[in-house]
Amino acid sequence: MRDTPVLTLIGAGLVGSLLAILLARQGHRVELFERRGDPRRLGYEGGRSINLALAARGLRALDAAGLRDEVMAETVMMRGRMVHELGGPTALQRYGRDDSEVIWSVHRGRLNLTLLDAAEAAGARLHFDTRLAGIDWDGNELLLVDADGSERRHAAGLIVGCDGAGSAVRAAMAARTHLGERFEPLGHGYKEVAIAPTADGGFKLEPNALHIWPRDAYMLIALPNIDGSFTGTLFLASEGEPSFASLDSAAAVASFFATEFPDAVGLIDDLTGDFFRHPTGLLGTLWLDRWHLEGRALLIGDAAHAIVPFHGQGMNCGFEDALTLAELVAARGLDDPAALFASFAADRKPNADAIARMSLHNYLEMRDHVDDPDYKLKRLVADE
Ligand code: FAD
Repeated sequence: MRDTPVLTLIGAGLVGSLLAILLARQGHRVELFERRGDPRRLGYEGGRSINLALAARGLRALDAAGLRDEVMAETVMMRGRMVHELGGPTALQRYGRDDSEVIWSVHRGRLNLTLLDAAEAAGARLHFDTRLAGIDWDGNELLLVDADGSERRHAAGLIVGCDGAGSAVRAAMAARTHLGERFEPLGHGYKEVAIAPTADGGFKLEPNALHIWPRDAYMLIALPNIDGSFTGTLFLASEGEPSFASLDSAAAVASFFATEFPDAVGLIDDLTGDFFRHPTGLLGTLWLDRWHLEGRALLIGDAAHAIVPFHGQGMNCGFEDALTLAELVAARGLDDPAALFASFAADRKPNADAIARMSLHNYLEMRDHVDDPDYKLKRLVADE
């Protein structure tokens, strides 16, 4: 392996750290650069969604990394959607026929820590507090910025950009070739609110479900955490009425929740505090025509295909990317990276495009159709 190229991974989020494990376990030399500090020392900084739905596709990749049991021990099973109609009954819509077809709620921060520990144990070299600022393609060097602002150069191997939707690797590639990049904003954002456990540590809602309060043009959802809490997320238009722009005072927020989500409002301990303290996240879809630059750099995960979260498949899809890439590397080696990257893109791009479209469609379904009697009838017939 010594004379095969180093694999230079940028971004130690969920996808980059999983890929580091899979490649390092094959004996490859893997370097992983992350702009944040080491979350195992500093605590997880958070940012986006606190918990995520892990599905069969993501679990398959974790299995290949030997982490299934460790990760599953920290999940809460969700067997279906618990739909909270306004002033109506609450009903569970199962995802499958029985508990063999379910998804799992997992904590983003804890999952990332597990993956980083495993990547290091597998032999990957992790560099935190190191931001990629650019790539000198002619000199084949990374332009890095350390936490104190000092700049340095570092020899690049085969570069894999796992640095998320705002990818610096993608920007550097786009300066060299046309990637056909389009970003389609959804026009809706999201905000997280916390539902604490009961005084004795229990769940305030049915734990084994993904809760949805569908309200046509917007919705609230809540996913369980293993400590008895739930993380609620409001999805709402950015502008117009109602919107994140119009909910501009504590009174407006309290009245909106009391009217629209009366059975949820009492569960959220500090609604207006959370609402104004937590950032409003932006949502959109990133489409690219090209994911690689010759045999020199490749994009995977959100860096290649950021999608809206309504199928809960962004991480799962990125995990599938990591597994597919690792399997291709195992089968073909690194002698012809241009062909390797082209095969990867040919395999994964149709899948990524499909889940991007399905995720956009599922926003309409989740917020608008799951409480529609015709829809429920169709599901019952389909389930027969
Ligand atoms: P990221 O998680 O964005 O990680 C990128 C990493 O790169 C970060 O650590 C970042 O610090 C680092 N980085 C960035 N720039 C640089 C740089 N210049 N130099 C060095 N490092 C850099 N997916 C699911 O599967 N299920 C869900 O239920 C789900 N729910 C979601 C809910 C919401 C509200 C949102 C917004 C997303 C959700 N997703 C879900 C999608 C999921 O969060 C993403 O698909 C996933 O995080 C992508 O992982 P990634 O590693 O590709 O990118």
